[in-house]
Amino acid sequence: MPDILRICCPHAEPRVIERLWKARRYRKLFNYLWVEFLMARGAVRLWGGRPYWLTVDPNNFCQLHCPFCPTGADRGVRGKAMMDLEHFRRLIDRLGPYVIHVDMMNWGESLLNKNLPEMIAAAKSHGIEVRLDANFNHVPDGMLDRLIRSGLDVLSLSIDGASAETYGRYRAGGDFERVMDNVRTLVRRRRELGRTSPWIVWQFLVFRHNEHERPRVAELARKLGVDQVSFVAPFIPNEPGFLWEWMALNPEYQLYPPPAAAPGDGEMLRARLSSQTRKTASMEPYYARRFGAASLLSAAYLRRLAAMAVREGEWGWLFERLAKILAYSWRTRSGFGSVPYRSAEGGRRPVCKWPWAGMAVNPNGSVSPCCSVEEERDDFGNVFKRSFSSLWNGRLYRDSRRHVSRFVRGRAGVMPEADHVCRRCTAIGVANFKFPNHSPYGSDPNVALAQPDLEGPGGGDPGSGKGLSSGLAPSPEPLSSSRGKR
Ligand code: SF4
Repeated sequence: MPDILRICCPHAEPRVIERLWKARRYRKLFNYLWVEFLMARGAVRLWGGRPYWLTVDPNNFCQLHCPFCPTGADRGVRGKAMMDLEHFRRLIDRLGPYVIHVDMMNWGESLLNKNLPEMIAAAKSHGIEVRLDANFNHVPDGMLDRLIRSGLDVLSLSIDGASAETYGRYRAGGDFERVMDNVRTLVRRRRELGRTSPWIVWQFLVFRHNEHERPRVAELARKLGVDQVSFVAPFIPNEPGFLWEWMALNPEYQLYPPPAAAPGDGEMLRARLSSQTRKTASMEPYYARRFGAASLLSAAYLRRLAAMAVREGEWGWLFERLAKILAYSWRTRSGFGSVPYRSAEGGRRPVCKWPWAGMAVNPNGSVSPCCSVEEERDDFGNVFKRSFSSLWNGRLYRDSRRHVSRFVRGRAGVMPEADHVCRRCTAIGVANFKFPNHSPYGSDPNVALAQPDLEGPGGGDPGSGKGLSSGLAPSPEPLSSSRGKR
């Protein structure tokens, strides 16, 4: 039977069909095939089709300060919130029968939500595969046992270093030794409880400062008893100073063309200083366009820039930034930059699956079309406040599907100034989610338990490269800035 389904639905993933068929999850399977069919046709309204992928954010705050993450950099584009257990239950009772996979993380450290294990257990009661990403610095008492017992399938730990020194360079505020202790305890408790799940992944964002540690990471992971190591190419602000300082030399972990020549001192300094500001230099054009120059000329931002310039004795750098901020403002008013900047290319454009198949739910119920939408003003409605059907087939979702379909057919470019988040998205088709290899419906045979599998870029994570089930493309827009988010 799976063979027939595969032939009838050439766009669907054979391994997903097979897994669902073997697990007798026929309702999920039918929904999956129906959504894939509607997506292939570019349907704008999804009659009877529900998302089969959910990203749910239990809370959107974190205790670390990773420089390229909007939460870590405290850009403050969403109000901080924690999801209520009852709200989650209502959501999962509504969509659970159709959903295949839930990612329990988006903009924060989910372990800070004390109800997380109950949420996972609620999702598991609907036969959903559940994945959690965590920096694993703070694990409340008893949380590990509750997590293991909840039935969590995959736990991906973001550890970008094999020593305290390299780890702290990106995971600012994190404690490497504490994370190692937590991993040891997790592996021990899993064994003592007689469980094989969660499947533990060590996710390692490969930067220039830590790429030499890859063999050591594999060795350490083996000793710790971690199941898989996933080396991932991170998103980095696409500017010469940043790329020079952060991008790995190994081309396998480069998402951007390397700078043609070494950047000058000014660029290096700017990258170093900017990585410490909330709004980085590479974010300034975006903020100027979205909120006007006033948002960049705010007293707090200017004070921070000035303090850095004073500290480093770089007044020229400060004046250069101010001049650029004013230029952004002028360009915005004059409409500069509002033309499509990515025209049809020769090759086939991949479809973005999110508007048909996925949904990202924020802690307050606000729904983003995908896991990379930073600002609440770009969301499509609130699933805790209105009916799912009116939202799922509402104007914004219909507009999103229409735009992505037209884009895929080469009839539309991306509009950087558009109001609708998908119309100005530069990551269409690149930001897709990916089912993990390890699944309760059956694992791929090439992933061996207790045998670290050294993966290439995008290897086991959804997005931040969001991981990278939602591995996003290098882009000047913060919309797709999520790489490095985790
Ligand atoms: S914003 Fe981009 S990646 Fe997200 S759903 Fe829209 S087109 Fe897809």
